[in-house]
Parts: sequence; C-alpha cells; structure tokens
Amino acid sequence: MAHTGSTDVSGGCAPRGALVLVGAGPGDPDLLTLKAVKALASADVVLYDDLVSDGVLAFVSAEAERIHVGKRGGRPSARQSEICDLAIAHALQGKRVVRLKGGDPMVFGRADEELQAAEAAGVPVEVVSGITAAFGAAASLQLSLTKRGVSRRLQFVTAHARDGALPDDLDFRALADSSATTCVYMGVKTLPPLVQALREHGLASQTPVVIVENATCADERIVRGTLGEIVAQAASIRFDGPCLIIIGEAMRVRAASAVASGLAAGLLAAE
Ligand code: SAH
Repeated sequence: MAHTGSTDVSGGCAPRGALVLVGAGPGDPDLLTLKAVKALASADVVLYDDLVSDGVLAFVSAEAERIHVGKRGGRPSARQSEICDLAIAHALQGKRVVRLKGGDPMVFGRADEELQAAEAAGVPVEVVSGITAAFGAAASLQLSLTKRGVSRRLQFVTAHARDGALPDDLDFRALADSSATTCVYMGVKTLPPLVQALREHGLASQTPVVIVENATCADERIVRGTLGEIVAQAASIRFDGPCLIIIGEAMRVRAASAVASGLAAGLLAAE
C-alpha cells in the first residue's frame, strides 16, 4: 500500500464482517465510482438514504437485503443511532454491509458518527467517495465554482440547524464575501433569512444565485436569479426534490451561453 492511515478493507468489493460507507453521487447512476459499483454488487446488506436514486439501487446485488433508512411519505426517519446499530449488528454477523449515502458520504452525511460506531465496535470500515451535489450541479450548469481573479474561495454550508431554522452561528461575514462561491445544502426553507443576512452583511443584490433541483437527474430543474430577486422567485415554485443553492459571481452566465440558452428556448427564433 502506498499510503498509511486508511483501513483498506474492500479493494472495491464489500468485505465480509465490515462496513463500507459508499457515496451514491447526486443521482445520475453513471456518476457512481467503479469502487462503489463493486461494493454494491458484492454487498449482503445495503442501508440506503432517501436521496439514493433507483438507478443507483439497480447496481445492488439481487441477493442483497435492502434497508431503507430515510424518511419518505411523511414517515419518521430512522434515528442516526438506530442506523449505526443496524449497520454494526449486520457487520458483526459477518455480513458485507454497505451504507449508501447520497452525494459524498463525507459532506453533510453524518459519516463521522457511523465511522465512530464502527470503530467502537471493532468493525473494519472503509469510505468510498461520491460526487457531492455541488459538483454535480456545477457540471450541469457548465459553470466553474472557482474563477480566476473573481471567485477564490469555495465554501459549503448547511442552512439547516437541528431545529430546521437557519443556524444562528454561521459566519455570515465569510458567507457574504463577494470573492467566494457559496454552495448551500439544505437551504430552500431558510432561503429568506439567509438572503436577508447576506444582504445585511454587504453582499450586493446583483450577485448571481442559482438553485439546482435534482442535479444530474432526468428531472433536474435550474432557477437562475440574483440575491435581490431569488426569494420571490423561489416562493413561486414548488420544489419536490433536493435543491442545491449556489451564490457568487462564478454563477454569472457567460454572454455566449446566454445566447445559446436563448436560442435553445426559441427566444431568438423570430421566424
Ligand atoms: N452527502 C450529500 C449531501 C447530503 S445533505 C452530498 O454530498 O451531496 C442533503 C442535501 O444535499 C439536500 O438537501 C440538497 O441540498 C443537497 N443535494 C443532494 N442531492 C442533490 C441533488 N441531486 N440536487 C440538488 N441538491 C442535492
């Protein structure tokens, strides 16, 4: 092994009596890593979140037990401690356990708690990276999250505290930095207070904002606006899928692509 410090338990396949945290990516199954596909194909048990698409689940071995551990249809979600207990219990029975999480397991996925539980139980554990929603959204938008001389800092933030409100301990000065690109996870419900705080901290109302719903999926939807208008725009739309909000100058649409999308929409087709 070329590096130290990792528990190389899978080599791509889910090992027996171990846990593998696998990133399912943002939705498009083609964005799974080869390592993720191998882990899904060799799993005995797969515990999966709501955000995992059916196309991704299609890669799970037909013999594997599938356990849904997210909330859907108003049913309460499984508690994090119950998910950890379930994963560990199966691994201790000698099963190959895959914990499949939307996007990348290490981004707003509470992977730390599952890693800690595995460590405490003496269960070997490995993490397989996935493509986080922000990267999927940027690829769909064909807009780089960083831009030379314009957007020098990239920050990921959750706009959802334990009680569902906007966390009051966010660093709003950093979030209002005009040379940063801010990717907001879990942010649709708290968009109004977030925008208000950003404006109070000096971010210009003309700053571009993009909301990408179901990034990389067939039903992906993109809403473009500015900091000044996005709250009113978002209020008129019913979002059903997960949404990623990206704020910053890097989201300014290039003139050429504005023409191209105008053409695509038939806006310039006068005849
Ligand atoms: N680990 C995940 C994030 C989990 S938090 C990742 O790396 O992407 C859940 C939030 O992620 C959602 O509320 C939404 O803000 C974002 N998200 C996940 N999948 C998404 C998708 N396909 N499109 C847009 N946003 C998504």
